[in-house]
Amino acid sequence: MLITRFALESTVAFGVIEPAEGEEFDPASASVRPMRGHPYGELDLVDLALPLSTVRLLAPVLPAKVIGIGKNYADHAAEMNADVPEEPLAFLKPSTSVIGPRDEIKIPEQSQRVDYEGELAVVIGKMCRHVAAEDAAAVILGYTCGNDVTARDLQKRDGQWARAKGFDTFCPLGPWIQTDFDPTSARIETTVNGELRQQGSGADLIFGVGQLVEWVSSVMTLLPGDVILTGTPAGIGQLNDGDHVKVEIPGIGALTNEVSLGD
Ligand code: MG
Repeated sequence: MLITRFALESTVAFGVIEPAEGEEFDPASASVRPMRGHPYGELDLVDLALPLSTVRLLAPVLPAKVIGIGKNYADHAAEMNADVPEEPLAFLKPSTSVIGPRDEIKIPEQSQRVDYEGELAVVIGKMCRHVAAEDAAAVILGYTCGNDVTARDLQKRDGQWARAKGFDTFCPLGPWIQTDFDPTSARIETTVNGELRQQGSGADLIFGVGQLVEWVSSVMTLLPGDVILTGTPAGIGQLNDGDHVKVEIPGIGALTNEVSLGD
């Protein structure tokens, strides 16, 4: 099932995306069935089908917190001249960094080097603490594409990552949440202006999704809508004014954002 959050005129709602009857999923012919309330629990769907092409897709979730995981692919740790960590290396991105599909990533004037990081994003569906890895599926609502945008120069200068990872617009998420997805089979591809820059596989995560949920939930309570960014594969690089960056995970969808100068 695909869960979206969308705007239509002045209304904002969650909804379920449904393919046209008898067809494979195609965004051009699919429709959105709005829901009352939120997708964390039993769904209360409205008997209404809106053409997907007529709504504006928003970030599919409004997380209370986004937990990023650093150096979770051996090839990316190597390109950063860093060792693979012995336990997950976590940081936080503020909820205000989240933007949706087609929203603009703004390069702040404080940085000369802003990078994309295409990632598989885990969306939590239930409030939980101390979840065992083998029980993680029960607290996961689904998966979406994420871009852990990072001011690389400030990351190196500060030591702490709150500023480098925390600017407004530095956490694109979307285009929707896929609830039926095997993260170990995920292929993550990042392209900039149509040129392939990153190609990773969920099978290559050093700490898998279950381990990450166990580790993070041993530290902090996870809330419905919280997001865990699972880390980026090799091939990171700079974004410039006017670039189009796309993070695509077959089986989920493609998240595209334009880059501009801003504050
Ligand atoms: Mg990252």
